[in-house]
Amino acid sequence: MRKVLIVGAGQSGLQLALGLLAKDYDVTVMSARTPEEIRAGRVMSTQCMFHDALQHERDLGIDLWEADTVNVEGLGVSVAAPDGGRALDWFAELDHVAQSVDQRVKMAGWLELFEDRGGKLVIHGVMTSELDALARLYDLVIISAGKGELVQLFDRVPERSPYTKPMRALSLAYAHGVRPRPEHPDKMAVRFNIVPGVGELFMIPAYTLSGNCDILFFEGVPGGPLDCFDDRPGPAEHFARILDLMKQFVPWEYDRCRDAELTDAKATLAGGYTPVVRKPVGTLPGGAIVLGMADVVVANDPITGQGSNNASHCAATYLDAIVERGDRPFDAGWMDATFERYWEYARHVTEWTNALLMPPPPHVLQILGVAGQNPAVARRFANGFTDPTDFQHWFMDPALWEKYLAEV
Ligand SMILES: Cc1cc2nc3c(=O)[nH]c(=O)nc-3n(C[C@H](O)[C@H](O)[C@H](O)COP(=O)(O)OP(=O)(O)OC[C@H]3O[C@@H](n4cnc5c(N)ncnc54)[C@H](O)[C@@H]3O)c2cc1C
Repeated sequence: MRKVLIVGAGQSGLQLALGLLAKDYDVTVMSARTPEEIRAGRVMSTQCMFHDALQHERDLGIDLWEADTVNVEGLGVSVAAPDGGRALDWFAELDHVAQSVDQRVKMAGWLELFEDRGGKLVIHGVMTSELDALARLYDLVIISAGKGELVQLFDRVPERSPYTKPMRALSLAYAHGVRPRPEHPDKMAVRFNIVPGVGELFMIPAYTLSGNCDILFFEGVPGGPLDCFDDRPGPAEHFARILDLMKQFVPWEYDRCRDAELTDAKATLAGGYTPVVRKPVGTLPGGAIVLGMADVVVANDPITGQGSNNASHCAATYLDAIVERGDRPFDAGWMDATFERYWEYARHVTEWTNALLMPPPPHVLQILGVAGQNPAVARRFANGFTDPTDFQHWFMDPALWEKYLAEV
């Protein structure tokens, strides 16, 4: 039985671990935190996952919250006008529902499921210095430690990483009591609100420790008015500040939140990170090699809400590649090829996400405007969140957009 060590118990690490267990691999997961500590900890993400990524979980029988979690049926886009109104406002349905399960719920539940299904769980925050000794005990070591310090084992790839600093200041709060959008009270949707030059506000229906809720998630242009959480306010002040910013910049969303309250005292988060692509193979001081997965090797800004989706696709790709490898060694050539197989998908997500971090070019402004009148265009944009590889065919290139526009 081949032995695999997975360091990091997040979306990618646990999904892969549970997938390998089902194929009778001997799997050990090292997690920095126990399930109880994860549940009692701070929210980590907004993790809205679209159909194709959710399907990987369904295929493994690990979609434990499917029946309880509110279904996201569509995507709404609004653009703020200088007078506080909306220059644009439209809604499109997704072909299949999306869902967002608080990672505190999901990762704690998956850790317990992993143990129940016979996996070996070690609660330990791994240091680079320990990996040399560990690597000798396993056929394959995978580092799925997200944006933690272990990423330093993997070299940045400059030609795939155009940014050298965070492109958005992130701040969010999970809340109960947010009312539906009056325009579509029966349609649960991710609302993508753009405030030109200032940033974006996502409103995301989600499922947390205390049931269904909404996530208020600001992506602020650095140095702008939304970049105001460096003093790390307490939860009440953090929430009040988010509401104040909504009142000022996206008053139509603020109106839904007048009676809202935080879901719990750990339901706020602020920060930011630099989008980066890294080499997939890390060499330890003693010469052993390890394979990086998901955010370790491709960390995109959450502006397009793709990180957990990417992590799910990465775990599914790695699972197939490991099983296909059979008894042959997991050497550097195999590691590079396995990553490139994932990158064939992830590069499209990365290019689209990096593009959205820049001021929009004229053809993108035109797309958002045309989508308001043409449901086919709106629907294609919305469903691109499920399969971002589609954007290369029409969204990313003004000439391809012109061609598509002439056809619809
Ligand atoms: C504010 C915000 C909003 C986001 N919104 C979305 C969204 O709407 N949709 C979406 O798809 N994605 C979103 N993302 C991105 C998404 O959360 C991540 O891309 C995804 O969780 C990455 O999965 P992963 O498995 O690579 O790492 P993670 O899920 O981060 O898991 C890494 C795990 O490794 C552990 N770890 C770290 N170091 C060590 C160590 N040395 N030893 C042991 N364990 C260790 C960590 O504690 C963690 O449990 C968002 C991210 C942020 C920050």
